[in-house]
Amino acid sequence: MLKRVLVANRGEIAVRIIRECIDRNIETVAVYSTEDENALHVILADDSVCIGGPSPRDSYLNMDNLIEAALGKGCDGIHPGFGFLSENPEFAKLCKENGIKFIGPAPEVIEAMGNKAAARDMMIGAGVPVVPGSDGVLRDLEAAKVTAEKIGYPVLIKASSGGGGRGMRRVDSKDALERAFEEAAMEAETAFGDRTLYMEKLILSPRHIEVQVLGDAYGNVVHLGERNCSIQRKNQKMLEEAPAFGLDGETREALCRAAVKAAKVSNYEGAGTVEFVLDGDNKFYFIEMNTRIQVEHPVTEMITGVNIVGEQLKIAAGLPLSFTQEDVRFKGHALECRICAERPLENFAPSPGKVDFVHFPGGNGVRVESALHSGSNVSPYYDSMAGKIITYGDTRIEAVRKMRRALGEMIIRGIETTLSFQYMILYNKAFLRGDYTTAFMEENAKDIIDILKTADDIEITEDINADDLKAAEHVKTSDDIKPANDKERIL
Ligand code: ADP
Repeated sequence: MLKRVLVANRGEIAVRIIRECIDRNIETVAVYSTEDENALHVILADDSVCIGGPSPRDSYLNMDNLIEAALGKGCDGIHPGFGFLSENPEFAKLCKENGIKFIGPAPEVIEAMGNKAAARDMMIGAGVPVVPGSDGVLRDLEAAKVTAEKIGYPVLIKASSGGGGRGMRRVDSKDALERAFEEAAMEAETAFGDRTLYMEKLILSPRHIEVQVLGDAYGNVVHLGERNCSIQRKNQKMLEEAPAFGLDGETREALCRAAVKAAKVSNYEGAGTVEFVLDGDNKFYFIEMNTRIQVEHPVTEMITGVNIVGEQLKIAAGLPLSFTQEDVRFKGHALECRICAERPLENFAPSPGKVDFVHFPGGNGVRVESALHSGSNVSPYYDSMAGKIITYGDTRIEAVRKMRRALGEMIIRGIETTLSFQYMILYNKAFLRGDYTTAFMEENAKDIIDILKTADDIEITEDINADDLKAAEHVKTSDDIKPANDKERIL
């Protein structure tokens, strides 16, 4: 096993990783910016190093300072978490050159998947379906015009180095193309220092379904099933669940098989996520692979019993996967709400500030992943996510009820959050039916906002529609879904 791991991150994911290391008797070194001096991850780690000023560029993105801290503290591993340098091939390479194990895939794999246009090509080669679109990157506006005519409007222009929804533009007609192209290129340049773009057909009202995979250094790859992450604002996830409700066995199996193929073709090592959009006819298309731990990994942990961060640490230590696909069992249903410091009534604008008081929920089937405590600070310098609440139940409706209880019990004073908004989602008909798509917000946010505007203190004790709830009560868990054949047991 690794002996001493530097956690190159902050917030709840740094806390999640440090706790995992403590459980495995691995020493930890936290890093922090001057803004994070009193943060929980610093308190929990065995040792800590200040790596710079508040701006991410000066601290959590400062490769030289991170490597220096790791070498100075005698670390044999670096866990990058998510965001920051987690998908930066240069950083992974730098770790390697300094004899430190980067907990994630090889730099070449990160690079190959980080270029989303090239990753598309790789998937086409491997026979994994991709959304119809450009062959590689768009050379110029003219090429964009030709591609859009070929695949048909509406289209989506995307940044090759994209992430976090930046550099992405929907284009509905020829007239709007030039402006969107320029805007997307500019946004991509600012955010990623790379203005290259590619194009995909816009799949109307798809579901965002992703598959968790694990690969070891010996070519073994397993999947841990899928998650539905279709409830998004600004193309970013808000509420996730596993398994994806309403997905038929055949589609699920094909999706998971495609994800394993994607991981195998890229010689994947570590934990990764293969993302797809699924259209109304249950046709699915690869959109990207994230080569890191994902925010929503706990829902998969809850239904499989596999400790994904634990597996990352074992794989990084050179151990082979200790289980096969056939050993993976799915049980029950899990939900996750990302509680963000944002103002839902002002188009989810960030709402950083000091948390005067926080009370977290608990009890059976409730898991909290957060770095918040009373008196701590949600900094304007970093991501707005303040924590995650995860619930687990034998059935979907049980997980929903537990989430209602959990969010109802949680108190955060001092900053505005998305908590009430997510609480209302838990009573929304489309959500309860489980057949929602990425159009959920477009179709439902206004109603939810209207309720939030009128209610001083939202307290709902009555279920809004008994029939919808009844439908949700009869949710299939993955236990009910039979594998297509016993030999290749997917579920
Ligand atoms: P990013 O890496 O910037 O988050 P993704 O490629 O993962 O971008 O896409 C983010 C979200 O945008 C997806 O979850 C999905 O909701 C939507 N999306 C992406 N590609 C398409 C597409 N071709 N058609 C429809 N929606 C899409």
